[in-house]
Amino acid sequence: MQSIAERLKAAQGRINQETALAHRPPNSVQLLAVSKTKPVSDITQAYEAGQRLFGENYVQEGVDKIIQLQALADIEWHMIGPLQSNKTKVVAEHFDWVQSIDRSKIAQRLNDQRPDSMPPLQVLIQLNIDDEDSKSGATPKQLEALIEQIEALPRLVLRGLMAIPKASPTVEEQQRTLGRLQQIFEHYHTKLANFDTLSVGMSGDLGPAIAHGSTMVRIGTAIFGARQ
Ligand SMILES: *Cc1c(COP(=O)(O)O)cnc(C)c1O
Repeated sequence: MQSIAERLKAAQGRINQETALAHRPPNSVQLLAVSKTKPVSDITQAYEAGQRLFGENYVQEGVDKIIQLQALADIEWHMIGPLQSNKTKVVAEHFDWVQSIDRSKIAQRLNDQRPDSMPPLQVLIQLNIDDEDSKSGATPKQLEALIEQIEALPRLVLRGLMAIPKASPTVEEQQRTLGRLQQIFEHYHTKLANFDTLSVGMSGDLGPAIAHGSTMVRIGTAIFGARQ
């Protein structure tokens, strides 16, 4: 059985290879290690192997880990799960990034609840790029207004977009969806100063996502093993 360090190295190797295949500069795609449900000892192992960006889905679990690992001060903690408004305060008080903003109420609350003692919260808007009823995320139609609102909030820095494309698309569907996402991202990337992050791509669609401009891929199972 491979160690976390070995699996991390393999994941990084895949990213480097896909980045080169897409003719993009080395290190233009970051790896977010998704550690949801995994113990802090696993995170520590990944940290010791050089990993610094970690993603958590569940608010209380994530906050518990952040507190337990606060000695590892250069970890960047990303909230990537659905966020309810009664949980925003504890998120604003602990996380570095929130990738799952999907409506103005959540953005406003995170802004108001971000402590002055902390740097501004870095945020992504989760875009429901397939426009599926079942999935969370702002629809492409809602995006412009949400961007304008967040740009006016002093305690949030709007860094870009996150998307979770449909799991088993046809090759054509996947190309179309990722192409549309890239186009929307590039439009705002050229317009807005800090809009530099496109969080898309997981184990199953790493190559196509990187070919379509992803700057951050999110990988859990391939690093930490299957979840219970
Ligand atoms: C769980 C999760 C991942 C990682 O999924 P794996 O299949 O474990 O690699 C990535 N992104 C989001 C939003 C997730 O919830």
